[in-house]
Amino acid sequence: MAESHKYVIVGGGMAADAAARGIRRRDAQGSVLMLSSESFPPHDRPPLSKALWKKGGKVENIWRSLDYRELRVTLRLGEQVAAIRPGPHEVALASGALVGYEKLLLATGGMPRPLPGNPEGVMYFRTAQDYFGLRRAILSGHEAVVVGGGFIGAEMAAALTLAGKHVHMVFPERGVLSRLLPAPLSDGITDDYRRRGVSVHAGRTVTGTKPADGGAWRVMLDDGTLLEGAAVVAGLGIVPEVDLLAALGVECRDGIAVDAYGATSVGDVYAAGDVANFFAPALNQRIRVEHEDHANRHGECVGANMAGAATPYDYLPYFYSDLFDLGFEAVGRIDSRLATLDDWIQPGQQGAVFYLDGGQVVGVLCVDLWDRLDAARQLIAGGQRVLGPADVQGRLTGERG
Ligand SMILES: Cc1cc2nc3c(=O)[nH]c(=O)nc-3n(C[C@H](O)[C@H](O)[C@H](O)COP(=O)(O)OP(=O)(O)OC[C@H]3O[C@@H](n4cnc5c(N)ncnc54)[C@H](O)[C@@H]3O)c2cc1C
Repeated sequence: MAESHKYVIVGGGMAADAAARGIRRRDAQGSVLMLSSESFPPHDRPPLSKALWKKGGKVENIWRSLDYRELRVTLRLGEQVAAIRPGPHEVALASGALVGYEKLLLATGGMPRPLPGNPEGVMYFRTAQDYFGLRRAILSGHEAVVVGGGFIGAEMAAALTLAGKHVHMVFPERGVLSRLLPAPLSDGITDDYRRRGVSVHAGRTVTGTKPADGGAWRVMLDDGTLLEGAAVVAGLGIVPEVDLLAALGVECRDGIAVDAYGATSVGDVYAAGDVANFFAPALNQRIRVEHEDHANRHGECVGANMAGAATPYDYLPYFYSDLFDLGFEAVGRIDSRLATLDDWIQPGQQGAVFYLDGGQVVGVLCVDLWDRLDAARQLIAGGQRVLGPADVQGRLTGERG
């Protein structure tokens, strides 16, 4: 075989980059090859829907490394891995070439979930390439259509509004982030979006698109409403990219199942980041996490384990978001189907929301409340029974009632 490396990483996202650093922490010499189907090198995704749309946001700040040779990592862009051959320890590239590995990491993340019927002209937003494409598309018009009321949709609607566009936001739920936030908080944020000029089409779905003049697109909604935008951007979540392992007959229910060290059920094959389904001791259940902190921590930990570290991943990752002036951080299970208790310093603006399951705190959302994540993690791990508001009041806000 022509080419072989001690470590082969499939993917060029944040988990892949973190894994390369984790490997290097333990093994300074072993050859590392990173194969990414993207055309741009690994970069931070969060600024694509936040900082880059604000004043002073600079593209040059998103790149994870200016030169992978410094890490002694060979990065190959535009390279799609088509299959794994676990017996001979090889991956087959779409080009037909074979590359040997001793340890293989799948940091393949996920593909944006398409709109039903996959209508024409819709841009799915995940990478720097998508960012550059959207920047170009919106140059030609004042209006944009954002489909999706989750994080990406909510952040893109805020970002494009801040960039001076009139945004139509379309989603089937009752309010912005209503799958995650309790109804009063989601309703307050939805009202705030309307006040800031976003045309919110809540409870609506897209039924189709048609090209319009000047490269714009017309978007039809299920109630007959017709919208038009220079760009139509959709953020409907991702589908974990499990095909390489599923093709080997491995059952992949929600991502690729890994053990505490990031190993899959296939010898010498590991998985990390958005694609990995792992056991979270603090929640006593298997989860898959689509957030930056997890991609960084899990990638690093699994990379080091591939190089012999044997460190279990027992960390509960956090996530954050910025919606206009509102910033929040959260840890654990954030799901509006769970019962919640809240503790506000200023209702809907500053405080904490506690998510409960079986009378225990399983998730905490901090709204404009910073440096409380460790305390939130302790509350979740403590497993203490919560009977009513008095049990959580002041626990994170520091203001006992
Ligand atoms: C716009 C945006 C904003 C975000 N904002 C936040 C935020 O504010 N807070 C937060 O916590 N999280 C945020 N996230 C989520 C966070 O960025 C992700 O959890 C993280 O990027 C996941 O990294 P990953 O490396 O696991 O997967 P991905 O980023 O999906 O990377 C997967 C990589 O694998 C490559 N790949 C897949 N299959 C193959 C193959 N067969 N061959 C070769 N390469 C392949 C892909 O091209 C890609 O390079 C945001 C995400 C996006 C897109």
